[in-house]
Amino acid sequence: MPAFNEQQIVKTDYGSFIEKVDSGKVKEVMLKSGQVYFTAVGADSNTVAYQTGAINDPELVDRLLAADSPNPDGKIAFNQIVPQENSPLLNFILLWVLPGLIFYLIWRQASKSLRSRFGADGNFLSFGNAGSKIYAESDIKTTFADVAGQDEAKETLTEIVNFLHKPEKYAEIGASLPKGALLVGPPGTGKTLIARAVAGEAKVPFFALSGSEFVQMFVGMGAAKVRDLFKQAAQKAPCIIFIDEIDAIGKKRDAGFGSNDEREQTLNQLLTEMDGFDGRKGVVILAATNRPETLDKALLRPGRFDRRIQMELPDLEGRKAILEVHLRKVKHESIDMDIVARATAGSSGAELANIVNEAALRAVRMGRQAVTTADLEESVETVIAGAQKKNKVISASEKKIVAYHEIGHALVAALQSHSAPVHKITIIPRTSGALGYTMQVEGEEQVLQSKESLFNRIVTLTGGRSAEEVVFNTVTTGASNDIEQATRLARAMVTRFGMSEQYDMMGLETVNNAYLGGDTSLACSADTAADIDREVLRLIKEAHAKAKDMISSHMDIMHEASSFLMEKETITGDEFMQILRKHLGDDFIKV
Ligand code: ADP
Ligand code: MG
Ligand code: ZN
Repeated sequence: MPAFNEQQIVKTDYGSFIEKVDSGKVKEVMLKSGQVYFTAVGADSNTVAYQTGAINDPELVDRLLAADSPNPDGKIAFNQIVPQENSPLLNFILLWVLPGLIFYLIWRQASKSLRSRFGADGNFLSFGNAGSKIYAESDIKTTFADVAGQDEAKETLTEIVNFLHKPEKYAEIGASLPKGALLVGPPGTGKTLIARAVAGEAKVPFFALSGSEFVQMFVGMGAAKVRDLFKQAAQKAPCIIFIDEIDAIGKKRDAGFGSNDEREQTLNQLLTEMDGFDGRKGVVILAATNRPETLDKALLRPGRFDRRIQMELPDLEGRKAILEVHLRKVKHESIDMDIVARATAGSSGAELANIVNEAALRAVRMGRQAVTTADLEESVETVIAGAQKKNKVISASEKKIVAYHEIGHALVAALQSHSAPVHKITIIPRTSGALGYTMQVEGEEQVLQSKESLFNRIVTLTGGRSAEEVVFNTVTTGASNDIEQATRLARAMVTRFGMSEQYDMMGLETVNNAYLGGDTSLACSADTAADIDREVLRLIKEAHAKAKDMISSHMDIMHEASSFLMEKETITGDEFMQILRKHLGDDFIKV
């Protein structure tokens, strides 16, 4: 056969193939995978290779046999290359025997583990192997030094560490330590981290499990797992058992809807085991949850999780400490911790860790060797508001509205006395959907909020929309987030903080899960609920009117600051205050 080199094959149609055959020019023909390859003598008596699609042509062979050819013997050489097919026997094995064999093996494996699961030796083995066996980690490197802030929690846990070091010392006096401690707090405050740190400090084995791992597909497995866990722990004492997200099994047992036999059996087993083991042996059980109010009371009674360790969101000093811990892991220039810590009020440890990492990524992107304060500041905004969306196209007229909107917020904030200073104003869109924002940073950490400062906050929130109304005589959708926040605040003032004259100190709403979003449920009659709405509306209207008033009496500042912002896209609080002072004098009176 000729070498049918791909590059030199000329594609043609079946008709000209037949024509070439009949005119005696074809030398060789080969059929392969639905294609006809052939060589024929071309115009300048060169041999040319052709390809065409094969069609069902029963007369082809006769035609080829009958045709003339430039070959020495005057005949066309032709054949067909047939793709290899499996032998019928092999097909039979692949299709029928093998699947049966596989099923048989799976069945045998399953019945084997079932037998030992219920076998006489009582040893527990579960189906499959993913996450079924409990292993103790023995060489944990995390220590209290990795956990910044949280000093009260560390203090309480230090006693447990000491106990794990020398259980005998406590046994001598006859003191038994609490069997269990419950770590409670919002997500990301370091509960899991500090539990590991206890094991690292005490240098004891660490059995870590998540509550949901107990509750598995087959009834009875959760309870068996608890039994197995405590058995293993007793052998390895002193050691720590850590049950993360314990609310998955520890929810209140209640009759009726939502009751879950599997979960309750598991919980019962846990309670039994906790009562059953000798507290002086040196097994300490730690558990973590961010929904403490859902836990079954039986779990919290003395002798079980009787110690409750509160993990709070870090304050200013705490945030600095956490930033320092995480900055140790990245190369950085000298950082102005104060600025970053102030700008992150309300952030959890996990968020701060994320901010440091984002800053490091940014430094790499910018081709720098070390993280700077600017990296951290930018990543604070990335974490809060999403990344910058530089290529989003915003028309000039929309940009103008956004600028006035943000300046409206800033102006109102700056003119009020119970209001945090403006730190930064930007109209660079973010991936979160924000078209711009005004960042206020508290001068000093505030624990208490006065009625005035809450009301001023609502006024500030209405400032954006007010600017749109005063300047453009129109309203846009840009204020939807402001509206949401203002309404939530005003509602809380009336229903939870006792800040309305009408309801005095009456609690009208209760918070359900303080650590997870804090949704509320009304605790009053429908009549009162309707009245609350009116009261909330009154507050918001009052705030809105105040903001509009402030803006319309300072239009010169609005125009100058907005055009400055439009030009720069991002301005600092200082730059903004300069414009303000230029118009109002150095010591303008705040309202
Ligand atoms: P939780 O279990 O409370 O939801 P984690 O312990 O899982 O929170 O915390 C997640 C991460 O956040 C930790 O791995 C750590 O990097 C960081 N982190 C949280 N709190 C602190 C803290 N106090 N000090 C240092 N890092 C912290
Ligand atoms: Mg956790
Ligand atoms: Zn706004």
